[in-house]
Amino acid sequence: MTELRDIKSMHIAELKEALKTLSIPAFHAAQIFHWLHLGVTSFSEMTDISKSNREKLSSVFYISAPELIRRQESVDGSVKYLWRLADGNCIESVFMRYHHGNSLCISTQAGCRMGCIFCASTLLGLSRDLTPGEMLDEIIFAQKDTGLRVDSLVLMGTGEPLDNYDNTLKFLKLVSCEGGLNLGQRHISLSTCGLVPRIRELSEEGLGITLSVSLHAPEDTLRSELMPVNRAYPLGELIPACRDYFIKTGRRISFEYAMIDGRNDTPECAKALSKLLAGMNAHVNLILLNKVKESPLKPSKDQNVRSFITHLEKGGINVTVRRRMGRDIDAACGQLRRSVLEAENNERRNVRENLE
Ligand code: SAH
Repeated sequence: MTELRDIKSMHIAELKEALKTLSIPAFHAAQIFHWLHLGVTSFSEMTDISKSNREKLSSVFYISAPELIRRQESVDGSVKYLWRLADGNCIESVFMRYHHGNSLCISTQAGCRMGCIFCASTLLGLSRDLTPGEMLDEIIFAQKDTGLRVDSLVLMGTGEPLDNYDNTLKFLKLVSCEGGLNLGQRHISLSTCGLVPRIRELSEEGLGITLSVSLHAPEDTLRSELMPVNRAYPLGELIPACRDYFIKTGRRISFEYAMIDGRNDTPECAKALSKLLAGMNAHVNLILLNKVKESPLKPSKDQNVRSFITHLEKGGINVTVRRRMGRDIDAACGQLRRSVLEAENNERRNVRENLE
């Protein structure tokens, strides 16, 4: 038997080609695409496709659908999802309600291999890349669950999107298709830890998305301690790549900076950061570090955050502090997935011990 193909990861054009080989009229491609993005889980739900064509489709394609295994709702209205994928891998997404609309934070990989020392998502390494269809599913099924439309998207969940470049790029194109979710690229932010060659490649793709770069330190020694990726792509390469990205795309880059007590929140760091970003038309987004159980790092004290902001503003840097959503539901990157994986491991250990 031949392996079934993942239909949700296909463009309409690819779908048309595939329909040809099945002798199904090409005009059905747009209808099928629409159904998939509405969240049908079987071909039998595609009521404007004949039964015989639906049978042909199900003989060559499968429709992905994650299983919801945990759902946590915060007092502020945000919802955190833990989905189980077909092969058993788990991923998280977070739905956030703002006055300007609903935003969804999605994962791009199951796990991560970037090794940032403050991040819960990377503790167990990378399990695998997500397919474009699995990324779409995070949106489709969050919309189905909440009954609300996702107005904007951030690729800031588990994983390094530029480490899963081709699938992420295809996803970005699929998600902004008119016949599908039709999410404008202006409403999408992609966050990267700084894979310089991929940032350069991305600048050539003609996308209208916002690029966020996780900076977290203004000089190489500290940044390499916090983020191993800096040893491969130090600031001397990253910052020029960011400048060029802006020149090429006209899109202002946003720099993420997690405030860590006593590590990167000193006045010296603020001054060095102002100097690093001077003249760049950059925007700095400060985030208070989310405490991760396995790490001794702590969030900065309020007074240090305030003085950091003052120094940056004096240095002419545009700065905002990210509002924290879902504090009561462990909304930080990778923490729910981690706690469930841990619980499953403990359970396995207990079962094994009982068997011995
Ligand atoms: N791999 C991408 C996107 C995923 S992480 C990246 O590195 O940008 C999304 C953001 O959350 C990044 O800025 C990341 O550095 C930050 N982050 C990770 N763990 C955090 C924590 N414990 N507290 C605050 N921010 C954290």
